[in-house]
Amino acid sequence: MLVIDLEKNASRLARRGHPWLYKDDLRDSDLVDESLGQGRIVRVRDNDGRDLGIACASTRSKIALRLCGSWPGDEVPTIEQFLTQRIERAIEMRQDRIEESSGQRLVHGESDQIPGLVIDRYADVLVVQATTILIDRSLSIVAKILERIFQPRMILARNDLSIRKFERLPEEVVLLAGEPVERVNIEENGIQHIVRPYAGHKTGMYLDQQPARNRVKELAAGARVLDLFSYQGGFSMAALGGGATSVQMVDQSETALELAQETALLNHFDAPEMIKGNVFDVIRDLRDQQQYFDLVLLDPPAFCKSRREVEGGIRGYRDLNRGALRLLAPGGRLVTCSCSHHLKAELFEETIRQAALDLPFRVFVEQRLGSGRDHPALLRLPETEYLKVRILRRWD
Ligand code: SAH
Repeated sequence: MLVIDLEKNASRLARRGHPWLYKDDLRDSDLVDESLGQGRIVRVRDNDGRDLGIACASTRSKIALRLCGSWPGDEVPTIEQFLTQRIERAIEMRQDRIEESSGQRLVHGESDQIPGLVIDRYADVLVVQATTILIDRSLSIVAKILERIFQPRMILARNDLSIRKFERLPEEVVLLAGEPVERVNIEENGIQHIVRPYAGHKTGMYLDQQPARNRVKELAAGARVLDLFSYQGGFSMAALGGGATSVQMVDQSETALELAQETALLNHFDAPEMIKGNVFDVIRDLRDQQQYFDLVLLDPPAFCKSRREVEGGIRGYRDLNRGALRLLAPGGRLVTCSCSHHLKAELFEETIRQAALDLPFRVFVEQRLGSGRDHPALLRLPETEYLKVRILRRWD
């Protein structure tokens, strides 16, 4: 067993709950190169020799240690014992969500103290993502645990993630167990969604927006709805299910709009109107045509993918939000979102505030939402709180 001692500053950070430690944070930094190989579980002690639990160690990325909580005794578990305990605990915490809907996140990386692992469930299909070498080479163990608990039709690894390069892992999609399933339907809050595990965004769907979809369903009754960056219409379907009088979707992807058409049919909804085009242009056209909406949904892709992109990204968010606010009818609402990790909540709100400057009506912040409770944010790791949703209301 390997025990790693931390330097003083790193000890303080770790005791406060920060889970990532760098090579320089270790008292004997050479230890990292010699004995860690392709990642392993180690014990960690602070500078006073006190136990800080276990960590996943890696020599491949700048992050040498990812703390993953306490473990009884003073040994380290095998990777199988570790994954079994942590995955079972994560599933137990989400039992209510599992009963409520056939689609949800089962494991959310650091929040569940399994750094580098995501597991999503779409009915009888499971999709996993591994972003560390240790988890990547343990995927067959993960699959075994999941087969025992769920007997799924398929377990797919959607490892086509660019961040895998930080651990020198290839971008690939691998069938781990079962037969290939191209499409699976899930039901959420009474609405069917079509999920494509191989080809859909993320692991097949934006599971994290479930609280906002539920709220949109409630707000949509009798509303004229505009869904900007609609993708396959996650929000549009919620709006139709909630009794919207009209729904207009805008996206540049033909495939996404076709899938939305199919999803509407599946739910026996009237087909929404669809505009295939650039949201920035469409906002301008709608304004020229003096079209107004009671509910505008604005959920763009992440504009700030790195710290360097924050400044330009903010401009994008500001212009979009300004354009969207100007399409609101009196009393109308804007559901505005940002999934940029690098744009902190305060800065996002400041950006929307800038967007609303000089508008000839009042704008209220009616509600603040984030990802669902199956994507729990760790209080002590603000990085896990990446999704920001604000519901704004125009009231003259
Ligand atoms: N709101 C969706 C997720 C949006 S994902 C949901 O809840 O499911 C972002 C979408 O924006 C993608 O479908 C992509 O095709 C689209 N997109 C990106 N840039 C665009 C642009 N400039 N104009 C129109 N669509 C765009």
